[in-house]
Amino acid sequence: MKKTCCVMTCEYCDLDVYLNVRLFYRSVGYRVLKDRPSRNADLLVVLRGDKEISDREYAGIVHAYDYVREYKIDWKARFPKAEKIFVISPTPPECPDGVTYVKGYLPVIPELWQSPIKKKHNRPIHISHFKPMGEDRYQQDLLKLIKSGLVRVYGKKWDRVDVKAKPLSYRQVDRMFASSSCCYGLMYPYQRGKTLSGRMWQAPLQGCFVISEAGTNIIGCPGVIEASGFRVDNFTTIDDNIEKCRALAADAAQFWKTATQILADELKLKISLKSVSNRRIFGPRRLLSAIRQTVEQPFRALQIRRMLKLTDRRPLYLIVETVNTCNARCVFCCYGKTKLKPQVLPLDIFEKVIREYSEMGGGAVSLTPVPGEVLLDPHLIKRYEILAKYKNIDQVSFTTNGIAFEKYSDEELKYILKSSFMIQVSIGGLDREGYKNLYQVDQFENVLNSVSRLLSLKRSVGSDVHIHLSFRTNNPNFEDIHREQLEAYKRQGCLVSHISWYGNFGGIVKSGEVKNAQIIDGSGLAKNETCVYPLLAPSVLPNSLITNCGCVDVNGDSLIIGDTHHNSLRDCWSSKERKKILDSFRQGTLVDLCRQCSMYRPSAHLAEPVYKNIQSYQKLPLEFYMLYGG
Ligand code: SF4
Ligand code: SF4
Repeated sequence: MKKTCCVMTCEYCDLDVYLNVRLFYRSVGYRVLKDRPSRNADLLVVLRGDKEISDREYAGIVHAYDYVREYKIDWKARFPKAEKIFVISPTPPECPDGVTYVKGYLPVIPELWQSPIKKKHNRPIHISHFKPMGEDRYQQDLLKLIKSGLVRVYGKKWDRVDVKAKPLSYRQVDRMFASSSCCYGLMYPYQRGKTLSGRMWQAPLQGCFVISEAGTNIIGCPGVIEASGFRVDNFTTIDDNIEKCRALAADAAQFWKTATQILADELKLKISLKSVSNRRIFGPRRLLSAIRQTVEQPFRALQIRRMLKLTDRRPLYLIVETVNTCNARCVFCCYGKTKLKPQVLPLDIFEKVIREYSEMGGGAVSLTPVPGEVLLDPHLIKRYEILAKYKNIDQVSFTTNGIAFEKYSDEELKYILKSSFMIQVSIGGLDREGYKNLYQVDQFENVLNSVSRLLSLKRSVGSDVHIHLSFRTNNPNFEDIHREQLEAYKRQGCLVSHISWYGNFGGIVKSGEVKNAQIIDGSGLAKNETCVYPLLAPSVLPNSLITNCGCVDVNGDSLIIGDTHHNSLRDCWSSKERKKILDSFRQGTLVDLCRQCSMYRPSAHLAEPVYKNIQSYQKLPLEFYMLYGG
């Protein structure tokens, strides 16, 4: 006969919590009963640390989840005869002798909650009943945002502060998170730093970032961004960048699976979360979604396998960083925050690498340095001439801040335009002051003039090059505010994108130290699957070393797979150093850079639609460039 687990929620039942808990204990093998007499149960689960529940005769095991941290409870006095009492909370409550504290939160079963992510809204949401919190400054800030229409709110009792809001069902909440890029959380002051808000697991699982009060992300939940105050400039929307939302959902699922497995281990429960199914819990919509996921799963797995095979043989593309100096000082960049000896990649090394890459089959080459400004490369035109010699190198691209275009003649620019697949211009918004604040140089007019010049030269030579204007600001509503100007650029044939949050360069850039930009802290991300960056491409650095992560390993200090002076590109790609890097994710032996990094993207990402059209090393699709930049 199955053992019985009684879940007690007498005071108030958080349905989402209960559903997670019920499935968790069912998958351990318990028959789960809710709010029934518990005397004969093998296990008693108490939610919220409820003040009513006690049983002086109960002799089984107690699991008390104190996730609201409202009461001080002497559990031993409540259940004096219990065989064992575990109190589970993210931070230790006072525990008398005979009570075992387990650091943890609640079981969270991602499969129960995740649904297809279709982002439509970039206006943040706040989903909660109004909390009477007096003069709490976060709540005051949030109210200002809500009343000015910048944040949408859902929940009960908002009429107390003259705000119209309607409550949502649990399913509607889920759907709302799946269609929004960003939400605000608000905890009671006594809970901050002691426990988590339910939003911190639920929203990221739907690819929705959470802005929360400082000091509240105590277990490093992915997608939770702490803010010292709730203001317009801390909105962290993803706008139309649905890939980032999907990557967050994948990170969050991995994180909560791991956290739930650890919780089970701590509670000495043998759980197989692989067997978890949501079919018993939800109605037709969820069932359809579950069926779709089940049907799609083999195709996703196949696609991942195909991409892994493709990139195992050779890189999908090659990055060659030819220069590491820059003429801007972007506040969100690692440039200036790390010691780099100014260097330019020698031409003979450049040619050697390009020749080797061509011998491997050629394909796409990116000339984007991180950090650095490619237009400051004194040999840029010469490099294009070298690239032109290798006919199987079919897509050349770079990202630039555009400041130094003015130093190039029309003829030189025409040559670059004719020979490139994409030129991505990174621009700090559409006003001079905002640009200056972010890029720390007064070059706004110069860059916009250069963009106009570029577009007119492109027309004059009939080039197919994609000009991608990639706006960086600290305002998530940028695209709404500047819709007309952006549309005008699109009408001229430009691609347009925008971001308002930034990576942390493996911890070199710290969120607390940057005033004008939102930096994502990556130290709390679960990183158990190999990151896609080292799977896809190597990067030749200006110092002639080859790193396996051109995105973050800026000086080649951490993820080196070879030296162009001694190693061929092919040898680097199949080297034991690279294998060690790829294995480090599964083996938990990450270098510090990866541990801190916020750019991490798990290999599950290779199942995303953007990779569907990548069947060979030639002609990478445009959407791939929109995701990874030029
Ligand atoms: S982000 Fe680019 S343009 Fe800005 S400082 Fe860094 S390297 Fe230079
Ligand atoms: S985790 Fe970050 S530093 Fe490590 S390989 Fe991935 S992107 Fe690069």
